[in-house]
Amino acid sequence: MSALGKPLPGHNAVQAFDVQRARQDFPILQRQVYGKPLVFLDSAASSQKPRQVMAAMTRMAETCYANVHRGIHKLSQESTDLFEQARTRVARHLNAAKDDEIVFTRGATEAINLVAQSWGAAHLKAGDEVIVSALEHHANIVPWQLLRQRLGIVLKVAPIDDSGAFLFEEFEKLLSPRTRLVAVTHVSNALGTIVPVEAVIRAAHARGIPVLLDGCQAMPHRRVDVQALGADFYVFAPHKIYGPTGIGVLYGKWERLMEMPPWQGGGEMIASVSFEETTFKEPPHRFEAGTPPILEAVGLAAALDYVEALGHEAVAAHEAGLLAYATERLSAIAGLTIHGTAPDKASIVSFNIEGAHAHDVGTILDRQGVAVRVGHHCAEPLMHRLGVPATVRASFGLYNTLEEVDRLAAAVLKVKELFG
Ligand code: PMP
Repeated sequence: MSALGKPLPGHNAVQAFDVQRARQDFPILQRQVYGKPLVFLDSAASSQKPRQVMAAMTRMAETCYANVHRGIHKLSQESTDLFEQARTRVARHLNAAKDDEIVFTRGATEAINLVAQSWGAAHLKAGDEVIVSALEHHANIVPWQLLRQRLGIVLKVAPIDDSGAFLFEEFEKLLSPRTRLVAVTHVSNALGTIVPVEAVIRAAHARGIPVLLDGCQAMPHRRVDVQALGADFYVFAPHKIYGPTGIGVLYGKWERLMEMPPWQGGGEMIASVSFEETTFKEPPHRFEAGTPPILEAVGLAAALDYVEALGHEAVAAHEAGLLAYATERLSAIAGLTIHGTAPDKASIVSFNIEGAHAHDVGTILDRQGVAVRVGHHCAEPLMHRLGVPATVRASFGLYNTLEEVDRLAAAVLKVKELFG
């Protein structure tokens, strides 16, 4: 039952998932903010970390931490084993064909830049076209613009409708003999729209065009199988899927990675170095110059263990219930506009309140213990498309509850009172 006494869509699923038990794994959720229990609705920016992730990192740091790949001593070997096991763990989670298709970077942003600067610079020339969508995060816009400056490529933008839904047929019309890459988000960070990536990949591949998916906002909400999807590149940010910051993942099909030159030079990515000539390792090490994020890789493996143990379907159903309830509660508030009402959405609700700037709304919500994100969400072109300077974004993770949705709705009503 909802707080309004009505049965909730997805309610049974919400009950099936023991959210209170999961919350115990996140000590930070016990915090008070301004004397009120914290309601954390900013997981799309970065999710909180369960004890299990911190424990795995601490355990490694306390028992066998050393730099990887270069030592013959015991700790270095153990550390290397754990680091490479983390790669295997990520490969298994994504159902990659081989472990070596997983490249560890320092973040999702870096992973997209790697593809742009290595694959892009080697395969694109002036006049070649890259298609992105109107939903993109700046991380999947600016690297292509930098390449445009450097090479003279053309950036085309697949449009959305007013609900924030991806217009597949319009996208298809953009595919041309000059299209060399489609680089789109799997799920919009600002609106929650789920892009029909299966159809996008089918259409692109039918014309021999590779596809990069920005999976940052998809991975926390659904199981991604890169072989079933067929994406050439898939990028995600571990810190949004209950793992640590400081690490990113680039999945690349083996044949794609093999056709990519190195992009950063340094230790670990070389086969041999002399002042006359240097040769390079095969992927993924070719793209991992310098000391990698070692503890973070182990934390990421623990995060994937954690999510898998809870069950992706159970988490997804729980979040669908939260999204449905939040949409119902917020859309019942007069003067509140939800931005992003596409039929297929992840658990993100972006909105504005008539007469109140998003930043003021965020500040008032914060004073009531409700943490949301306000602004353009690193998606300025999308804000322009929607005709708003900013939105208030509530994003839900596995640890959020229906009661927290009620707290959000109550806090929004308070804003309305204040803004009369
Ligand atoms: N893409 C999307 C869709 C995102 O939401 C984010 C993070 N907000 C990024 C890319 C960039 O991730 P990071 O800042 O962790 O590199």
